[in-house]
Amino acid sequence: MSKQDYYELLGVNRSASPDELKKAYRQLALKYHPDRNPGDKAAEEKFKEISEAYEILSDSEKRAQYDRFGHAGVGAGRASGGGGGGFGIDLEEALRTFMGEFGRGGGGGIFDDFFSFGSRRQRGESHGEDGEDLQYELVLPLREAVFGCKKEIAFEHLEKCSDCKGEGVEIGSHRETCPQCHGSGQVHRSQGFFSISQTCPRCRGRGQFVAHPCKNCRGEGRSRAHRKVSVKVPPGVETGSRLKMSGEGNGGVRGGRSGSLYILIHVEEDEFFTREGNDVLCEVPVPFYMAALGGEIQVPTLEGAAMLKIPPGTQTHKIFRLKGKGIKDLGGYGHGDQLVRVMVEIPVRLTEEQKNLLKRFSEIPEPNSLPMYKSFVDTVKKLFKF
Ligand SMILES: [Zn+2]
Ligand SMILES: [Zn+2]
Repeated sequence: MSKQDYYELLGVNRSASPDELKKAYRQLALKYHPDRNPGDKAAEEKFKEISEAYEILSDSEKRAQYDRFGHAGVGAGRASGGGGGGFGIDLEEALRTFMGEFGRGGGGGIFDDFFSFGSRRQRGESHGEDGEDLQYELVLPLREAVFGCKKEIAFEHLEKCSDCKGEGVEIGSHRETCPQCHGSGQVHRSQGFFSISQTCPRCRGRGQFVAHPCKNCRGEGRSRAHRKVSVKVPPGVETGSRLKMSGEGNGGVRGGRSGSLYILIHVEEDEFFTREGNDVLCEVPVPFYMAALGGEIQVPTLEGAAMLKIPPGTQTHKIFRLKGKGIKDLGGYGHGDQLVRVMVEIPVRLTEEQKNLLKRFSEIPEPNSLPMYKSFVDTVKKLFKF
């Protein structure tokens, strides 16, 4: 049985550019990848063939040799070739070719789609894993949330091991391809007509194993460490706001990226102000004579004291708006207001003198000064015909 032409295998013509070759290979490799065709020997063969073709044609020197001398020129059909096809590449090599092309860097996303083992993402040839994101709850008083602040926070995370640089392997030793799954991280088991694919129990899907793990991190590639960072909280955050600090989460291993630290804001309840969006609401007691006669009262705002004018005849629960004295919008859409709810206070524990003054006041017939009360009395009179 003679070997099929490499160009034919990839379905490209002899003048195909490196990009065209890569595209053709990618499409076919994904189609025939053993992880997508568990237990399918024909697909595995095909995967090996196209990987071999690509390995040769993607190397300009080997491609030139192949163009001149055919398969003989590139030493294909080496002794290691398994199966009857006489192909010189085994599955392990084919997988390496595939990973080398699409697994590195992780930016393409292609690898993530097909190889995800649990929550940590595997990253290509190096089998690196990205570190987990972490969350830290930061409790702030209202004022600091409103105006922004700088906070030092201390937390624990997993840091890349300094002894093995996150590789998990003792210095001088190295990582070996898992003999059980041949580096694919998956094993296939036949059960009657079905072939079941599962995560390799020996390497737990990593495709590799370590005979001499790093002693410092026990092969984990990272260890627990205390960390302090300075956080700049922007003005206007509220409970539930999340700030992201890239790279401050758990460290990645074997070349993986570090996760992010998310700072979840929790704003403490304030004794005076309640927040309503970007507005702040507060309640202010006003003496009954001031509510009747009018006056001025000092009220606290987020930025210090302000004077609030109480017009004559102010009723209890009336709300006054102090424009722009609220919270600066986090998205930059201006400022909220401060809403002041007036609570008219009726005197308790009157002195004799005060009582006499109020009695005299009540004896002055002036029905128009209490319009609500007057209309109520009139209504009741009509209803019950007093
Ligand atoms: Zn394995
Ligand atoms: Zn280590």
